[in-house]
Amino acid sequence: MKLRFSIILLFLIKPLFAQTPDLVHYVNTLQGTNSKHELTRGNTYPTTALPNGMNTWTPQTGRNGDGWKYQYEKKTIRGFQQAHQCSSWSNDYAVFSFMPVTGVLKVNEEDRATGFNHSNETAKPNYYQVKLDNGINAEIAPTERGAHLRFSFPKGAPSYLVLDGYTKMSMVKIFPKERKIIGYVNNGHYVPEGFRNYFVAEFDKPFKSYGTWENRENTITAGSLTKEGDGAGAYIEFNSGENVQVKVVSSYFSFEQAERTLNLELRKFKTLEDTKAAAAKIWNQHLGKVLVEGGTEEEKATFYSCLFRASLFSRQFYEYGQDGKPYYYSPYDAKVHSGFMYTDTGFWDTFRAQFPLNTILQPTMQGRYMQAMLEAKEQCGWLPSWSFPGEGGSMIGNHAISLLTDAWVKGIRTFDPEKALDAYLHEATNKGPWGPANGRHGWKEYYELGYVPYPEYGEGTAKTLEYAYDDFCGYELAKATDKPFYENIFARQMYNYKNVYDPSSGFMRGKNRKGEWKPNFDPIEWGGPYTEGNAWHWQWSVFHDIQGLSNLMGGEKNFIKKLDSVFSEPNKVNVGTYGGMIHEMTEMVMANMGQYAHGNQPIQHMIYLYNYAGEPWKTQYHIRQVMSRLYNSTENGYPGDEDQGQTSSWYVLSALGFYSVCPGTDQYVIGSPVFKKATITLENGKKFIIEATNNNDKNVYIQSATLNGKNYTANYFRHSDITNGGTLKFDMGSDPAKEKGLAIADKPFSLSQADNK
Ligand code: CA
Repeated sequence: MKLRFSIILLFLIKPLFAQTPDLVHYVNTLQGTNSKHELTRGNTYPTTALPNGMNTWTPQTGRNGDGWKYQYEKKTIRGFQQAHQCSSWSNDYAVFSFMPVTGVLKVNEEDRATGFNHSNETAKPNYYQVKLDNGINAEIAPTERGAHLRFSFPKGAPSYLVLDGYTKMSMVKIFPKERKIIGYVNNGHYVPEGFRNYFVAEFDKPFKSYGTWENRENTITAGSLTKEGDGAGAYIEFNSGENVQVKVVSSYFSFEQAERTLNLELRKFKTLEDTKAAAAKIWNQHLGKVLVEGGTEEEKATFYSCLFRASLFSRQFYEYGQDGKPYYYSPYDAKVHSGFMYTDTGFWDTFRAQFPLNTILQPTMQGRYMQAMLEAKEQCGWLPSWSFPGEGGSMIGNHAISLLTDAWVKGIRTFDPEKALDAYLHEATNKGPWGPANGRHGWKEYYELGYVPYPEYGEGTAKTLEYAYDDFCGYELAKATDKPFYENIFARQMYNYKNVYDPSSGFMRGKNRKGEWKPNFDPIEWGGPYTEGNAWHWQWSVFHDIQGLSNLMGGEKNFIKKLDSVFSEPNKVNVGTYGGMIHEMTEMVMANMGQYAHGNQPIQHMIYLYNYAGEPWKTQYHIRQVMSRLYNSTENGYPGDEDQGQTSSWYVLSALGFYSVCPGTDQYVIGSPVFKKATITLENGKKFIIEATNNNDKNVYIQSATLNGKNYTANYFRHSDITNGGTLKFDMGSDPAKEKGLAIADKPFSLSQADNK
């Protein structure tokens, strides 16, 4: 009887636990933080936030205004800041910070900086903690737009908390009786005039004394209740040895909205432990959308650390109003609108894998983002390309159309396709106002000549390749929605990649207006006609027509040979127009995989291209090599800039066994999964399971496959295979299955082949 009861209990309990396993413990938010200007291993900071959170929190080791917020090698912390941007290169906006001080009051960021050791640090998505060398313990637990912080001061010395208004104009106002500070900051780039981040901070302990100070003049005014100026800040003194909890939120609208959000998100939590537990629950539910089994503990740690980083994006830029509905302050027209808005991403990076991953895991959000992009177009006249949070116009191409088409072909149809096509045509026939050489730089020549001439236009070859891909996306959306006017226009342009291919050298090259190739060609020379790469890297940026590319290159044999050569060439660098080593070059040399430069975007899809040319087993080999050699869960965990979830999404998709080589089509190209089993739970409630029997670090080759029990030979599958739910099963082995996946029908989508189908 007793035994029977236990068995029943086990059956009852198991499903409960099975729903939310503890996956947060696998995540290391320090992954990739050991980065600097010359060499990045991720260029991340220990982001403490909820999935897609509007505000994130991090310890700060760098000076105010320095994009390098937190570097693993640094020895001191000078604040705990509200942050937004993911990358040092894009710096940040709307930042302010708190710093606990013991003993003598020090407000200046250099004076107050305090030593710390990584052995006294906890870095999880739902909880950051560090015990500083002076005995102060600092803790952070996040909500979507706020945070719950706690500072525990050592006994026997005065206890202060300094609030730093960062750079530029800010204001603080202290309410001692209410134990509250409110204020605003307006620091940032690409923010509209009058932009303000209004914050409210509530404390659970009485103020013993207080005052204000200012960053620029470094003056302290004891007893002062308010200050406005360059980096205006406040300080509060608490009883010696106090444990102080702070609940802080911010709003881009007003103090009233910040108060509302404080009520919505934080007042319900009594202690930091409550906030931390609630955040853990949200993260476990989110990470649990992809449950992996098998594989080593380190592989799981790498996988969930990457899934965490990928899940910070798309970043919310909206708040819930009095009526419970979403509103946003537009970084494009500085007005408040109803609806959803997202920011802090560069599509040049993220169209490749980060947005495609969202189409699988967060399609509702993806649909809202697509609407938001068309709203942004109405507000500023152009589709976004790099939001900082307003448009910064960095990098080449007009990849908003890739996101829109990708969403549409995957059944995320929340927007008017005619509006999207019209917006893209506008992009494609105008330089656009952003940056001297971005937007559709060289658009006229691109139409007239069929390519962007170089050196007339810097990076002209890279631009030609990406414009042609974007035109393909325009064409696909027009075709899918029966808009022949747009279809005809873009159909004329999408093969333009052919115009920069030089058959004599076998590379994509710079070509001037007269049709002459750039002289003294050196395939390892960076820059010039290429963006952050060389001819080896840009050869493959024909996402939509790999068959056409292969034909250009003399057929499959030559195509494969060139793919192989990427790895067999020496890892040498000619710095070219960059004039010196940039970190992407150093990272390629360090990776020691020939000319394969995984640390930057242009070549990240290349390994999957063997699937188009009859040697899918080489994809399987190299993918596993890259995943095991270039990624791990530590501070050195990425092979270069992480870039707004892109590199993490590459890993997440690749570890699951597939990749989005050509966003704008509904296909995923098969690689080699890391785990024995992965279960993706979709928003529609269905599950897509990827099983890989006999999988281990030697058995990396797919021997055979079944989809929902039926023999499956193709080197790709479709988005609907995922959303319909089902099981894709691979049988893995240590020897390549060289006869598998060779038929034309097994090859993934190519425009040139689609014509024959
Ligand atoms: Ca990059």
